Amino acid sequence: MAVYKGKYVLRGLKEISPEMESDLDLAYRICMSYIDEFPCEMCGRCCRQPNIVVLPEEVDRIAGAAGIPLYDFVAKYLTRTSDGRLLFRKTDPCAFLGGDNRCGIWKDRPEICRDFPYAVSMFMSRVYIALTDEKTDILELIRYMDDSWPCTKAIRSTITEKIREARSSKNDQI
Ligand code: SF4
Ligand code: SF4
Repeated sequence: MAVYKGKYVLRGLKEISPEMESDLDLAYRICMSYIDEFPCEMCGRCCRQPNIVVLPEEVDRIAGAAGIPLYDFVAKYLTRTSDGRLLFRKTDPCAFLGGDNRCGIWKDRPEICRDFPYAVSMFMSRVYIALTDEKTDILELIRYMDDSWPCTKAIRSTITEKIREARSSKNDQI
């Protein structure tokens, strides 16, 4: 099992090759750069997905942001899975999604929402990595990324373009 950045588990891989790590680093930087230039078109699709995880240390903060007493928040908005994780009880749409498709607790939203679509987009291809082997080219894998979401479409095309640019400038230097 390979772990990238100490956080992202690439199942099926024993290790990440230097070539793949270099591509992943580039893709990661691109994804992170989107945090300041958010390509969100407010379609609200990501706020209609199941399994929105809330970390134990986030509960107090989110309850405060929602203006709900802690006890009521836990009882009304959270549920616990058999493996002990906390999830939002209502997710289609999320209880905190406004009619204008804006998040009502944006600054205090859970980490999983902060990570989307940057990290998710990048690691959406991990499923395909797991099915193949460590020598597979990320440009091949990235073709499988869902481009029907406005944000992931933008990210996929930028990652593809930047990796091609980086490879081409590396080749020019040889
Ligand atoms: S799916 Fe992407 S574009 Fe749509 S609301 Fe979520 S982040 Fe924005
Ligand atoms: S907390 Fe906000 S960003 Fe996260 S799913 Fe709910 S409405 Fe969407």
